[in-house]
Amino acid sequence: MSSKILEPGEIESAAMTPPFVQLPPIDLFSKRAERFAALAEGHPMAAYLNLLDKICRAQQAVLDNPPELPELDNARISASLTHDMPPLAVDTLLHENDWQIQLDAWLEVFETSNKDLPDAVRAALQRLRQADTAQRHTWAAALLGGRFSEVPEALVPFLGAALQLAWRHWLKSIDAESIREREDQTECPCCGSLPVAGVIRHRRPIDGVRYLLCSLCATEWHYVRLKCSHCLSTRELDYLHFDDSPHGIKAEACPDCHTYLKQLYLEIAPNGEALTADLASLDLDLCLAEQNLQRRAPNLLLAPGGEGEQGEHN
Ligand SMILES: [Zn+2]
Ligand SMILES: [Zn+2]
Repeated sequence: MSSKILEPGEIESAAMTPPFVQLPPIDLFSKRAERFAALAEGHPMAAYLNLLDKICRAQQAVLDNPPELPELDNARISASLTHDMPPLAVDTLLHENDWQIQLDAWLEVFETSNKDLPDAVRAALQRLRQADTAQRHTWAAALLGGRFSEVPEALVPFLGAALQLAWRHWLKSIDAESIREREDQTECPCCGSLPVAGVIRHRRPIDGVRYLLCSLCATEWHYVRLKCSHCLSTRELDYLHFDDSPHGIKAEACPDCHTYLKQLYLEIAPNGEALTADLASLDLDLCLAEQNLQRRAPNLLLAPGGEGEQGEHN
């Protein structure tokens, strides 16, 4: 009889090897829209969540009915996969500007299907529509590069939505089986972006397994639990949450790098979705900022004035 003590990663691999990558469902955005609509009921930020519902519905409409787009460069995708690089790398695809066709398509659908938008929203949409290619590229590069202060706050959720849509569309041509584990698992294996949150699965055979959800393309990749997703520390992490929160969210806080990442526990909130649960639980972020914990996870539908600039004073 052996009494070998298993490390956190070994406990999971002893049970089974979970798939490394799970691609998002094709109705991802309509699922998010439904979640936002449900979360908005009785929520202090109901107006914001209802706007996000509309934003996601327009994302789904364009994903289902995409504009004509140039083909992805298959040779480049193959070369990326061969070298274990993200096949939809942000740097490359952002620079090529095809995503702006998706932005125009999204703006068209969103404005046509929502006639009663507040003036501030209309002004932001008009600014995005009228900006030239170079200006839009500068804003998008700043947003995806985490330089939130360089993007006009009012534009963020709309620009972010169009970028998510573009990458989710490109993901249609990626085979999950072709994505292999890389040494650095703190960034999305498909596009290289940071996670928005973690998800603790609740259904067999991967119950209890943690995936990180990409803030941009919505790919989920396996990442062992009890390990900081920023500095890789396995020192005892804190799990901070409000006792009465209905969102199934706990913040995994690291004692070494003083950052945190929210985790959605599907066992607690079986209908939950990580990006929507994140935006419905911003009260937790405010509380963590007061404890000098820094949020590193981007949420592309969040205007940075919300909480993105906090926690800089460690
Ligand atoms: Zn990604
Ligand atoms: Zn850490």
